[in-house]
Amino acid sequence: MADNGNAVMGAMPSILLLAGDGIGPEIVSQARRVLQTFIERGLFKATISDAQVGGVAWLQEGDPLPEHVMAKAKKADAILLGAVGAPQFDREAPRDKRPELALLRLRKELDLFANLRPARCFDALTEASSLRPELVRGLDILIVRELSSGVYFGQPRGMERMPDGSSRCVDTQAYSEGEIARITDTAFELAKKRKAIVHSADKANVMETGHFWRKVVTERHAKKFKEVELKHILADNCAMQLVREPKQFDVILTDNLFGDLLSDVAAMLTGSLGMLASASLGARDAKSGRQNALYEPVHGSAPDIANKGIANPLATILSLAMMLRISFERDDLATRIEKAVEKVLARGLRTADIATSQKPISTEAMGDAILAEV
Ligand code: NAD
Repeated sequence: MADNGNAVMGAMPSILLLAGDGIGPEIVSQARRVLQTFIERGLFKATISDAQVGGVAWLQEGDPLPEHVMAKAKKADAILLGAVGAPQFDREAPRDKRPELALLRLRKELDLFANLRPARCFDALTEASSLRPELVRGLDILIVRELSSGVYFGQPRGMERMPDGSSRCVDTQAYSEGEIARITDTAFELAKKRKAIVHSADKANVMETGHFWRKVVTERHAKKFKEVELKHILADNCAMQLVREPKQFDVILTDNLFGDLLSDVAAMLTGSLGMLASASLGARDAKSGRQNALYEPVHGSAPDIANKGIANPLATILSLAMMLRISFERDDLATRIEKAVEKVLARGLRTADIATSQKPISTEAMGDAILAEV
């Protein structure tokens, strides 16, 4: 049996499944079947545990992220999350118990500063893109977004009363050198395993933080990553280029705010929300090699289709592939999953969200098809 990667230092890897709300349980259970199949066939070793987060945890325990779940999350080598949130909880849960807070707290306490969002266009789905097929066929971009700092967290923030009685509202964009350096290193390390091109997107022309971002990225590149090609691009031009000629990009490195926007643009090039995976990573411990990591589909809990058995489980299954590749260095198993998805799509099997002329299949039938291929 192959090794499970340095993230676990020889111990049995522990994987925590947080199904959450809405379609969460339906899609996570399909990813679990894939994981269990690898384990049963002796291809991978791991202990799998489950816990409740989000609205369902609030209903049962009065807290969207109970302390015992947070403790489990801190110990896990990797977490797979379905989704949290639903209109019912928006109406009923107090503001400080909203399901989405579970996700924010997980990100904060696990210090998940690097958000990875691949935008990959599967051949069989090129027609689903809003761009012409020739522009997106073979598209494979990775957006690396800084997730724990920048304008969403900077202080001061909020409203203030002006001497003339009017109001003023402030957000603060702030980045330390260390914060930029660690996300830069993450992007370059990932680029080394891909086409080795990093576009760093900023607003160096008009923002002090943009100018500083560019300086730190340039220094890290010169110091540690000369084998990777670095190109600086203004974030607004990056947005334009993404819809003009997306295949020029390999890895896009950017801050929290621009990453939020650019990753959504890149995502839609691939067609459907139900296909998009993501990873959020913490710092790697220099001694043990351990790294906090949470994997989840990009979409939400889709309450409109929950419990109908029609949700697309592929984004979650592809998030599992990211987990196997990044947290456990099992490129072989990750590739097996990705190839299975390709084959299943090529056979014309589609859940309702990605079906065009095909008769849609159920969440479970999609899981069956993936299992048959892996
Ligand atoms: P959403 O992503 O849940 O749904 C948007 C649309 O896409 C819906 O029509 C839905 O049916 C469809 N869709 C999404 N995922 C699908 C899938 N796997 N298969 C088939 N169709 C799919 O976004 P929303 O409706 O704006 O939000 C619903 C709830 O999810 C809200 O409470 C929101 O706060 C929450 N949310 C959670 C996360 C998260 O947990 N990471 C992310 C975004 C939204």
